[in-house]
Amino acid sequence: MATILITGASRGIGLELACQYAEAGETVIATCREPDSANALKHLAQSHENVEIEALDVVDSLAILSLASLLAKRGTQLDLLINNAGVLVHEAPGEWTAEGFSATLETNAVAPAIVMQAFSKVMAEGGKMISISSGLGSFGLNIDFGGPTGTYAASKAALNMAICQLAPLFKAKGLVIAAFNPGWVKTDMGGQEAALTVEESVSSLRKSFESLSLAQSGLFFDLDGSPLPW
Ligand code: NDP
Repeated sequence: MATILITGASRGIGLELACQYAEAGETVIATCREPDSANALKHLAQSHENVEIEALDVVDSLAILSLASLLAKRGTQLDLLINNAGVLVHEAPGEWTAEGFSATLETNAVAPAIVMQAFSKVMAEGGKMISISSGLGSFGLNIDFGGPTGTYAASKAALNMAICQLAPLFKAKGLVIAAFNPGWVKTDMGGQEAALTVEESVSSLRKSFESLSLAQSGLFFDLDGSPLPW
């Protein structure tokens, strides 16, 4: 059975990833910033002994290092790391704030890069490090330029570039690294008018993660595994 670490597993896509992998019998290390108030996740862990909850605020680099070193000490190796935690701050162009933009970049771009660097040391051979990006971060797709999701889009573009920059190093170590667009999903972030349920998005993502090969490392994919432009 695979061992899978997920960030931001308290709700939305992260919680559904934890649920589906738990049901499939995989060992799930579900991380979230406030385990005490993550009721749905606690419920999942109570009913599935293959689910362990660990506290991890992804903007806390010391906490990232400390969890990676805990896993190393106890000999846990990850087959799959999923950088899922993310934030969206709606700010219209012309009204961006330094606080909003910085916090968005920190959570959506800096944190996943630091998480990958730290956990690369506890990845199993051939392990996969996936980051949940967004079509909004693609220059090629050119979605909603000028809209209120501009700082979010910039943060996902930064994440995509971080993946391109880290890919050669990790690929040389035999690790797969990739960005995925989960689609427009009904969550607190995506809103209830979104096209896909979390179940649909995550089922499709899981199949695509499974079939991802080392040759495809360093690329950006849609949820069904088809390639996307950066
Ligand atoms: P939600 O807003 O529903 O959930 C976001 C999750 O990220 C929560 O679990 C939240 O934890 C967690 N999180 C935020 N900041 C931190 C942090 N500093 N440390 C740890 N966890 C944190 O969003 P989604 O489930 O929709 O989004 C998941 C990912 O998918 C994100 O990266 C998002 O950008 C991406 N995405 C989503 C789309 C959609 O349509 N929904 C479309 C494209 C991409 P807490 O409960 O503590 O706040």
